[in-house]
Amino acid sequence: MAEGFDKDELVQRFYAVRNALPPHVTLIAVSKTRPIEQIQALYDLGHRAFGENYPQELRDKYPLLPADIEWHFIGHLQTNKVKYIAPFVHLVHGVDSVKLLHELNKRAAAEQRIQDVLLQVHIAVEETKHGLGPKELEQILVAPLNGMEHVRIRGLMGMASNTADRPKVQAEFEGLATLFEQMKRSPSVDPALFTQLSMGMSGDVEPAIAAGSTMVRIGSAIFGERG
Ligand SMILES: *Cc1c(COP(=O)(O)O)cnc(C)c1O
Repeated sequence: MAEGFDKDELVQRFYAVRNALPPHVTLIAVSKTRPIEQIQALYDLGHRAFGENYPQELRDKYPLLPADIEWHFIGHLQTNKVKYIAPFVHLVHGVDSVKLLHELNKRAAAEQRIQDVLLQVHIAVEETKHGLGPKELEQILVAPLNGMEHVRIRGLMGMASNTADRPKVQAEFEGLATLFEQMKRSPSVDPALFTQLSMGMSGDVEPAIAAGSTMVRIGSAIFGERG
């Protein structure tokens, strides 16, 4: 038998998080470092969207869990690791370079898949987190996705500064939401596809939703603090 975890507590925390979200917001349960038994427990409640940060960890978990899970890759993705997840990953949230976009396109083509992606924007003013600056974002958009027939840009993702300064976090999310609305109107994106704004984690889900998030990535509020 696998070592026990408090399943009732996990289920309770999951519903507390789920029920606090507006129905149009997709909940991604961030299961990085969590054992498959805990993922399976949420799957058994009907939940399907899970987020992982590490390509090898995701590659290893994938065959041990039901095939209809929607795996979201939310971490920083190195081009040489795309191959581990390219056969099955549902949405890649952290695309932060043209090089990575090309690699995703190449691998998706080899798998005869269309890969949905989000562009990660650097919004945390005081922190060095991965993401595109406004200039690079423009580059990606004006350099048309010529020849990249196997990737679809579905929206934007961002992480706010890790700070108790609420107005600042709120302002960062609102900045990203404004950019999202602007890009939606740009001729370079298909507004029917460009619909997802991934922002908000356990510590800042409320300001993210207030600013217009459509996808929240929540780990510790569901699974407990990471050890
Ligand atoms: C770990 C992680 C999360 C979830 O963080 P919690 O604070 O545990 O909710 C969300 N997004 C990204 C990119 C992460 O790496």
